[in-house]
Amino acid sequence: MSHNKVAIITGASRGIGAATARLFAAQGYAVCINYLNNQVAAEKVQSDILQQGGKCITVQADVSQPDDVHRLFAAVDKELGKISVLVNNAAILQQQCRMEDISAQRFSEVLLTNVMSCFLCSQQAVKRMSRLHGGAGGAIVNVSSVAARTGSPNEYTDYAASKGAVDTLTRGLALEVAGEGIRVNCVRPGLIYTDMHASGGEPGRVDRLKSKIPLQRGGHPEEVAEAIFWLATEKSSFVTGTFIDTNGGL
Ligand code: NAP
Repeated sequence: MSHNKVAIITGASRGIGAATARLFAAQGYAVCINYLNNQVAAEKVQSDILQQGGKCITVQADVSQPDDVHRLFAAVDKELGKISVLVNNAAILQQQCRMEDISAQRFSEVLLTNVMSCFLCSQQAVKRMSRLHGGAGGAIVNVSSVAARTGSPNEYTDYAASKGAVDTLTRGLALEVAGEGIRVNCVRPGLIYTDMHASGGEPGRVDRLKSKIPLQRGGHPEEVAEAIFWLATEKSSFVTGTFIDTNGGL
């Protein structure tokens, strides 16, 4: 395989990000697996990809922090070369509660991780991909959530608000760079089987709520990865500024 296309997937040690990294690698992309803390999980994704003949690196970086984001992109420039795809996937959610119980500090943390990361990484990607800056174009795919629409009452309104911001950033940036060879799109997953629900205090949340999903089941990370992949490749060459809801019909 040639591995001449390079993709950065943020938060790729686990869940949807890991499935996305595996899919891009299987399709011949050289992949950067970014993670925050879980080096063991990131290295497991890496070793699986290498075993399949893929090319990838792992880079620890907190993508909500400008210096870390600079370091992440510099590592990719040096070790993999020119990027053509950025997937803004990393995000957190915290314990389920009512809005009046969310502290200002928690609200800031969630917005910083989920929105600032998308802004900072997209900025670095545009500097490398835009024809305005001598780049060859590319694609950015943001990972939002059905929560942007539902608002997640009694669970995590902070997280839902952060995803609303990701949707708006998607539209704004897509229109800003559409004439420069960059497409910007977004997937909005629903209830997907990953560790994220345990972070919210309810590991079994998908199974509790799956009967409310029109397709009558929870989703799998690989099903979201397929939508991300399609939006990132030339198969979707006339698509920008839009959203794919991977949520079983919710
Ligand atoms: P997950 O299993 O909790 O994994 C989160 C990933 O993000 C991990 O790789 C984690 O790294 C990384 N991460 C967290 N903060 C980071 C930071 N500051 N810098 C770099 N990496 C960071 O999450 P998931 O369920 O796969 O979610 C992926 C995306 O889908 C998120 O945007 C989420 O909001 C969205 N989504 C998920 C669902 C769902 O039902 N699961 C539904 C709607 C939307 P470590 O392993 O090092 O901690």
